[in-house]
Amino acid sequence: MKKYLFLLTIASFLLFINCSNDLSQKKDPEVRNIIFLIGDGMGVAQVYAAMSSSEYTLNMERTKHIGFAETFSLNKKITDSAAAGTALATGKKTKNGVIGQDSLGNEFSSILVVAERHGLATGLISTSAITHATPASFIAHELSRNDYEAIAADFLSTDIDVFIGGGYNHFAHRADSLNYIDSLINHGYQIVTTIEDVESTDSNKLAGLLYDEHPPRYSEGRGDMLPKATKKTLEILSKNEKGFFLMIEGSQIDWAGHANNTKYSVEETLDFDRTIGVVLEFLNENPNTLLVVTADHETGGMALTSKSGDYLTSDATFATGGHTSIMVPVFAYGSGAELFTGIFDNTGFFTRFIKLYGFDAE
Ligand code: MG
Ligand code: ZN
Repeated sequence: MKKYLFLLTIASFLLFINCSNDLSQKKDPEVRNIIFLIGDGMGVAQVYAAMSSSEYTLNMERTKHIGFAETFSLNKKITDSAAAGTALATGKKTKNGVIGQDSLGNEFSSILVVAERHGLATGLISTSAITHATPASFIAHELSRNDYEAIAADFLSTDIDVFIGGGYNHFAHRADSLNYIDSLINHGYQIVTTIEDVESTDSNKLAGLLYDEHPPRYSEGRGDMLPKATKKTLEILSKNEKGFFLMIEGSQIDWAGHANNTKYSVEETLDFDRTIGVVLEFLNENPNTLLVVTADHETGGMALTSKSGDYLTSDATFATGGHTSIMVPVFAYGSGAELFTGIFDNTGFFTRFIKLYGFDAE
């Protein structure tokens, strides 16, 4: 009897070891791939203005999981894109203007960098310079968002696989005369400067620097750069069997808000929505994938009002040329989407991503 009990104890001990091994190895996390889409300056009014002027149902309307995120920064009720980008990327609040760190210089790890450390593929795509505040928050650590050349140099401290946007000059034509294009090539990147070359590349390490500074607006020459760059990047990053993290930004919804320009806002929001469509096609074929769409803040205080007072039609009016403090919408699709409902703080994206990937909290 004693011997039997002893064997039973051994057996349950082995079972225990086996279970705890399974937990620590996290062989099958619920989510392998996360795609994070940020519409800079995209509040509910910007989304509804695009919905009302579209002939087709927006991809944003296809979500079953909707929430709201608060956007205040560490020192201001109204955030800028640097503090908001840092909160979205790292889960930590910082002061307006600061990228990926606190104002004393303590660096924060972004979800992109944590994913990279775990062997996942990573990417950034933007319709601004890739060194601008939103993408920079995922990769750089700088006291000032305006230090574009320092931000460009920070790209070399990572192993990001693909980045596509504008900002060629911040790598190539610098005040310090250093040539970071050569450094990128030495790090194994293929450098491409047109969207056609992005689409036709067979490289797995790609720096797409398609414009000297910022890309133009959609109707002034940029065209389908964002959905095309997204399609190619998904193709490249999905070759990594461990999974990937990709951030895609619709940067110019914000600029349309600053300009109080409704047509510009709608055109950029529709371009952003078509990009969501490309990601949703990928989700259909890749079940362990999460797509989260949100904004860093609202811009312009856009309201849809009746100008003549008869309530028959509504037109956009703007309360400000700057940002506002209002909550921004969250749309989530695919694996783990149910975690992105309700009202939560913009630091909550990072913590949810870490949890869903099955990474240990840092
Ligand atoms: Mg931005
Ligand atoms: Zn702005």
